[in-house]
Formats: sequence, C-alpha cells, structure tokens
Amino acid sequence: MTATSAKGQGIEYADTASEAYRAALRVIESVEPRIAEATRKELDDQRHSLKLIASENYASPAVLLTMGTWFSDKYAEGTVGHRFYAACQNVDTVEALAAEHARELFGASYAYAQPHSGIDANLVAYWAILATRVETPGLAELGSKHINDLSEADWESLRAKLGNQKLMGMSLDTGGHLTHGFRPNISGKMFHQRQYGTNPETGFIDYDAVAAAVREFKPLILVAGYSAYPRRVNFAKMREIADEVGATFMVDMAHFAGLVAGKVFTGDEDPVPHAHVVTTTTHKSLRGPRGGLVLATEEYAPAVDKGCPMVLGGPLSHVMAAKAVALAEARQPEFRTYAQAVADNAQSLADGFVKRDASLVTGGTDNHLVLLDVTSFGLTGRQAESALLDSGIVTNRNAIPADPNGAWYTSGIRFGTPALTTRGFGADEFDRVAELVVEVLSNTQPAAGPNGPSKAKYTLADGTADRVRAAAAELLEANPLYPGLTL
Ligand SMILES: *Cc1c(COP(=O)(O)O)cnc(C)c1O
Repeated sequence: MTATSAKGQGIEYADTASEAYRAALRVIESVEPRIAEATRKELDDQRHSLKLIASENYASPAVLLTMGTWFSDKYAEGTVGHRFYAACQNVDTVEALAAEHARELFGASYAYAQPHSGIDANLVAYWAILATRVETPGLAELGSKHINDLSEADWESLRAKLGNQKLMGMSLDTGGHLTHGFRPNISGKMFHQRQYGTNPETGFIDYDAVAAAVREFKPLILVAGYSAYPRRVNFAKMREIADEVGATFMVDMAHFAGLVAGKVFTGDEDPVPHAHVVTTTTHKSLRGPRGGLVLATEEYAPAVDKGCPMVLGGPLSHVMAAKAVALAEARQPEFRTYAQAVADNAQSLADGFVKRDASLVTGGTDNHLVLLDVTSFGLTGRQAESALLDSGIVTNRNAIPADPNGAWYTSGIRFGTPALTTRGFGADEFDRVAELVVEVLSNTQPAAGPNGPSKAKYTLADGTADRVRAAAAELLEANPLYPGLTL
C-alpha cells in the first residue's frame, strides 16, 4: 500500500520513484528532448513557488506513475462487463476497483469512474437526470439506444422536451461554477436557468431565500456546490428545499471532495447521503489524477452508467487506474489527518488576513479556501494576482459577490490550502503566508493607463518581490515537494 502523509508523500519510496522518473525522462528525451526538459522544469517551478490555487494539489508518485502505462492504448467504450470493444478484461478490473473504492470511501451505493473531468461528470449527471426524470415518449428508452440508432423523430422529441427543463444553481459571482447554469456554458443553454446567490450583507447562503427562489422557479434540478464559496453548506437543508418542489438534488463537490473523503464534512455537511447525484473532480482536494467521478442513488445509476458513449468518449483507462490508486490512498487513516489539516490551515490563513486588517468575503472560512477582497488595497484582482506572481506566490483572481470589476479583472483573490498542506505546511506557515501576501499587496499601487487608472497595470515597490521570494523560499525548502525525489 502506498504511504502518504500530510508531511510530504511517498518518502518511503523516494529512491524508487527517483529511479522511475529518471528512466522515464531518458526514454522521452530520446524522442523529444524539449518535452523532457519542460517536464523537469515544471517540477522545478512547482517546487519553488507557493501554490495557493484552491483547485490544485500534488498527487503522489504512485498516482502519477500509474497514468503512464499501456492502459492508455486500450479502447473500452461501455461499462464493466459490457464493452463495445473486445479484450477489456483488465480495464474491467481497473474500472471495477476504482468504482469500489469510490463507493466505500464515500458510502455511495453506485459510482461511475469514467468522466474525463469535472465538467464531463456534470454533463453525464445532467443527462442521467433528464433521462430518468423527463417523461416523454421514449426519453428513458433513448438512453438505452446507441446514439447512432436515434431517429430524427427521436432527436426532435428530445429537443422539444429538454428545452423546457429548469435548473437552479449557485451564481458564479457568489462562488458557483460555470457548469451550474451560467449563461455562456452549455448548462445555461440546455436548461432554463435561474441562480441563487448569497446574503448581500453576510456573504453566507441564506436558506430561506434559496427556498423562496426554488418555490417560485420550481426547477427540475437543484444544484449545490461551489468553486469559490468559503463556507460549508447544509446539504440536508438543501435536500428538503429540493424535495418541496420535487427537484432532483445534485451536489457538485469538485472542490471539497477531499474534505468529504477525510470526514471533515460529516452529517448534514456530507452531500452523499442527501443528494440524488453527486459529481466531483478527482484532482483537487481529493489529490488524485486529473479526472471526474459521479456517485448516484440506485434510481439514477442505470442512466449514469450510459455516460459512455452517450456523453463521453472512450474511457481513459490509465486515468481510471490512477483514480483507483488515489482513492485507495484516500481510504487510509493518514488522509483524514491530511483533510483536517487542510481545514485547520485555511482557518489559520484566514485569521492571518483578518488580524492584518485584510477584508475577507464572509469574514473568514470553514472549508479549504479563503476569498480575499482586494479592493481594500485599492487593487483589482488582476493587479493583485500579477503582483503576487511576481513575488513567487501563485493564486488566481476571482470575482467577489456583486463584483464592481466584473468577471475578467475581478476584485478578489482566491486562496486554497490543499496543495501546500500536502507539502507539510501547518498553521504557523499559513500565518506567515498571510503576512507575505499582505506585504506584497500593501506595496502594490495601481498604475495609470492611457485613459486614467488602469485595472491591469500596477507598480510593486522596489525590493518587495525579492524580499518575499526569499521568505517564501525558506518556507518551501523546509517543506519540500516530493522529498528525496531527484531527477
Ligand atoms: C473545477 C470544477 C469543475 C470542473 O472540473 P474540470 O475537471 O476542470 O472539468 C466543475 N465543478 C466545480 C464546482 C469545480 O470547482
């Protein structure tokens, strides 16, 4: 079994992993040396920056190595035991194991390990809910036909019925994801959509307001889950709201699946017992390979199972294998320690900002992310993101509720703790991170553009970037990424 701990991963097999990567890079080098070089440089860059992007992490060498095999060469459309291709016996083993680990880890009755990404998982889920719920002559049956066998009349009936469906999710500017009905995304085109937001005073979800909006709109699907909301969600309450109008309750836990897996979110905060369908990525707080998963109740399972070829291309069997490895890791007791540290560290980061008078959306956090309102520094998110990057701090700009600077320049910076917690950062290190961020932003000034103040240009006071880079380097050296791994 692979060993992972909050303090770096795979220490026990660093020598073996080093050998494996050195050999792999030599093989790659013999064909395209520039790719080997970029691969080396990517590790070097990741080792030498403070990665605070809330959706990123560092997967273990076991997870990463699992992806580089001949499972990549196999076609396996269909499901375990029912493939459109021959000779899928080993893919069956892989997919069945990934699904079993997912069911056991999350306490789900059914798991689908094929989605190539979080967005794909959501598309599979939406299709499955429509195919299960929409009563049309034939829609449920359409799901059982091969897509090539649908007649023009089938498609006509499909378009007419699907066009009338309603979906409600959290708005993008209050922390929702673009696949939850945002207009420029396909989810906002294939559904009539309306969004719920947060309380303008507190920034928290106001369940009475959500209930009122749901009662009025009567969606077929109510979606909970977020990418930039720094608080926990009461999924039991959301389910009650969905039940009132007979909506299917779907939770997209892409960001916080690691906190669910690590039992930081339990009871009403665990989406799995409350939702009909749960989707996730596997590469964020869950610390697996880049990919997606769908969990579902028995009712929705048969339709989710048709994800490929209804919605997805051929499964990425090498990635499913890596999902199985990552999920096996997440079932170890060490993963709970890790998940708790992710939440504790976010708390420390938020406290570090608050005690230095920086303004946070909702005033703090109780999950893995912190959303800093940078208007108090007189900056846009774009300026703050760039100044931090100059200083070796990797973050992303993010809209805040009712953002005065819109979705491109924004007024917020989102910070997450999953990645640096994997490196071994603790509460003290995250307090120091808050100090460094505040130091950069306090020394950044918006610069003038051709027509007045610019939303993109800025100046950073002399010496700040070097000073902060040096301080960050100390933290990074004390908590190495892939300790012992040498290329
Ligand atoms: C990241 C994210 C996704 C998309 O995941 P991809 O793997 O990039 O497709 C979907 N939903 C939520 C809530 C996310 O945070």
